[in-house]
Amino acid sequence: MSDYSHPARRTIPFFLSPTACPYHCAYCNQAASGQAGAHTPSPAFIARSIEEALDRAGTSSGLHWEAGFFGGTFTLLPLDVQTRLLGAVQPFLKDGRIQGLRLSTRPDALTDDQVLFLKHQGVTTIELGAPSFDDEVLVRCRRGHGAADTRKAAARVRNHGLALGLQLLPGLPGETAASRSWTLNQALALEPAEARIYPLVILDGTPMADEYRAGRFEPLSLDRAVRITARFFRSFTLAGIRVIRMGLQDTEELRRRLVAGPHHPAFGEEVKASVLQAGLIGIIGNQPPPERAPSAPMLVHLAPVHQSQVLGPGRSRLARLREATGRPGLEIRFDPELEPWTASAAGRVYSILEKACLGES
Ligand code: SF4
Repeated sequence: MSDYSHPARRTIPFFLSPTACPYHCAYCNQAASGQAGAHTPSPAFIARSIEEALDRAGTSSGLHWEAGFFGGTFTLLPLDVQTRLLGAVQPFLKDGRIQGLRLSTRPDALTDDQVLFLKHQGVTTIELGAPSFDDEVLVRCRRGHGAADTRKAAARVRNHGLALGLQLLPGLPGETAASRSWTLNQALALEPAEARIYPLVILDGTPMADEYRAGRFEPLSLDRAVRITARFFRSFTLAGIRVIRMGLQDTEELRRRLVAGPHHPAFGEEVKASVLQAGLIGIIGNQPPPERAPSAPMLVHLAPVHQSQVLGPGRSRLARLREATGRPGLEIRFDPELEPWTASAAGRVYSILEKACLGES
């Protein structure tokens, strides 16, 4: 079984100006999916924000701290701007108060020289926008690069010893269940250290919003997006790939610009609840039938971190689980000794992820 335990991390995020990318992907409204009113931050602002974040956390937090530059396309910024932004983080990297530096960029904007430059500036993780590995889907969303560019850029990041992150967007136009599986398998094959999964939502002011309003494209329903993301999450986590975000952050700006699509303020929790439900159905289904009656008590223990995910509002998820397993006497208890994503039942400990059977429909 893979190791699911990673040190707790905090990233201090900085968002680049929407003008920091010359491309126009059909789904992208950087102002809405980044931070309202984002502008390229000054070095003084960066330094002050890091100081404040560290001060707020105190010295005893024991966290792995990183600074991160998101939005736009970092490596297409003029070199002097890149140097200034990264330079503002250097004192914190040198004195060890920050342990990592990350940024996101496009796969076709990352040469070997650029990776070396970033590495020299203390960058530890490069996240690549990799919405799909299906070239037809990439053309349809006006991405401007192919899957081969993503593979090459991923290899560059890894060959130079940096951690690779992938940002995937299931639910794009032209995507099928088969192309989604292809994308998942290709992403796994690149062995990234981590992944973000952002099912496509339609934002105002984008070509995709026009397509949607003209009836030419329908985004995923929330249920379907949760099931698809659950499958991705399970596969990545079992492969030891850290899933660091599922669904866009629920900001006021995002809600203002949201036209349609599977947005949920706690999307990641919904996904984890879905994986738990599937895993527990698998585990309970393997238990011997109740000796007396289906309503005979049955006890399953989980790590406390799963409490709200498994019980749900008003214990509604537990009720659904009892119904799905035909075990009205099922009770869940929480045991701090258990690792996340493990369950103990009838004296045995099971991997919830391994037992979760997750299809798309
Ligand atoms: S490359 Fe990234 S930032 Fe630029 S338009 Fe596409 S999605 Fe938006």
